[in-house]
Amino acid sequence: SLSSCSPKVCIVGSGPAGFYTAQHLIKARQDVEVDIYERLPVPFGLVRFGVAPDHPEVKNVINTFTQTAKHSRCSFYGNVNVGKNVSITELQQAYHAVVLSYGAEGNRSMGVPGEDLAGVYSAKDFVGWYNGLPSCRELSPDLSCETAVILGQGNVALDVARILLSPIDILKKTDITQPTLEALAESQVRRVLIVGRRGPIQIACTIKELREMVNLPDTRPDMVAADFDGVKEALKDLPRPRKRLTELMLKTALEVPGEKEQERRSKASRTWGFRFFRSPVEVLAEPGHSRIAGIRLAINKLEGSGDGAQAVLTGEVEDVPCGLVVSSIGYKSLPIDPSVPFDSRKAIVPNTMGRVKQAAGLYCSGWLKTGPTGVIATTMNNSFDTARSILEDMDSGTLDMSAAKPGSQSISALLEKRGVEPVTFSDWEKIDNVEMKRGESRGKPREKLLTVEEMLHVAWT
Ligand code: FAD
Repeated sequence: SLSSCSPKVCIVGSGPAGFYTAQHLIKARQDVEVDIYERLPVPFGLVRFGVAPDHPEVKNVINTFTQTAKHSRCSFYGNVNVGKNVSITELQQAYHAVVLSYGAEGNRSMGVPGEDLAGVYSAKDFVGWYNGLPSCRELSPDLSCETAVILGQGNVALDVARILLSPIDILKKTDITQPTLEALAESQVRRVLIVGRRGPIQIACTIKELREMVNLPDTRPDMVAADFDGVKEALKDLPRPRKRLTELMLKTALEVPGEKEQERRSKASRTWGFRFFRSPVEVLAEPGHSRIAGIRLAINKLEGSGDGAQAVLTGEVEDVPCGLVVSSIGYKSLPIDPSVPFDSRKAIVPNTMGRVKQAAGLYCSGWLKTGPTGVIATTMNNSFDTARSILEDMDSGTLDMSAAKPGSQSISALLEKRGVEPVTFSDWEKIDNVEMKRGESRGKPREKLLTVEEMLHVAWT
């Protein structure tokens, strides 16, 4: 490297992408300093607010992130809304490089009439509600109906289905919020339909999530046998992970189960099932009401085969009565600062290998870089790639490091002037301790604080 000053890097967002980018930079160079800015007072993004409460093992990555945050060359500044409290241009003046990893906080809408009726929720809000995202605290979804329809068949859709149908005795040992637990204890939902526009071979979930549905206590599967016509014949040509997933689906849908499983199924009080080849056309209201009564689905047929098969309308429709609709058709990144290039069609920051196009010194990683798909391991790999691009640019001199940069010193002064007080990582550890203590008294791993005010109060006293 040509420069003599220590490189200062700023990261926007403290989800997996932010932490994995920071981790790789700190490990690769002994002189780099990394500051992570986060909008909320609490770190970890979707690991805290997305990952289902009954998947505690997935949250173990928090241990690694905590090690990174406590590294002497890493600092965490929570409660800082980048784009509002401080601009990207200001960050670029204070740091040699700025990495955008603020995720995908919007959601794709269905674009059908009736979408705004009471009883229709986005998966993003529904998940945010059961995971204690402050902005979703007041969602209080109406669970007084018997049938819920989930649109979309990815892992998030299956998370929502599982949470709706799980026995309370299982959920109450997780970090699901107390208000959600109380609402679910009163829930009348007995039947969950998981709707997708294409067929069984195109389903977007993974086998782990499907297996969890198949094994969910007190539930039985309820599928439509005809949806699986021709699927057995197609098995032999499928790649291995897809083949195993499809085999499990076929077994669940078509095979006559053994005696024990038959007995289990006959005693089950709740059902779940996939509904394939269906697209939402309209959410139907009760006459004279603003509440939903059902959903109208278009019946599709497939053109082509395998992954590339297209759903094509047949012209037929079907009405399904239901009292709850959760649309799980995808998250979406949003622009946070007009100075940053944004591809609104793909809803990502346009980049090559994490280098934001036409913006020297600006990088991106995670869901903002790739679009909102992929598990934490995928996000880790693409974040390591971005870190490698930054390191390359530091070594090649593409990244201008000739002048020393003030880093957090100047940003902290700006924030103070604007009346914004950041939450440090040790402040977060106070919140963490209070949450774990509150959980302990209820036999839960954690009882999350549900408002920003309460988080700040605990952090600063
Ligand atoms: P995020 O995790 O969303 O992090 C972005 C961070 O940026 C957030 O902390 C946010 O508050 C912050 N931010 C946003 N705007 C600003 C701003 N203006 N200024 C400062 N900070 C800002 N993967 C698995 O491997 N296993 C699972 O079981 C699993 N379950 C999932 C369940 C759901 C419902 C969802 C949606 C995803 C799940 N994933 C799971 C995928 C995983 O969560 C993602 O791969 C990963 O979180 C993406 O990381 P990210 O850092 O890009 O985004």
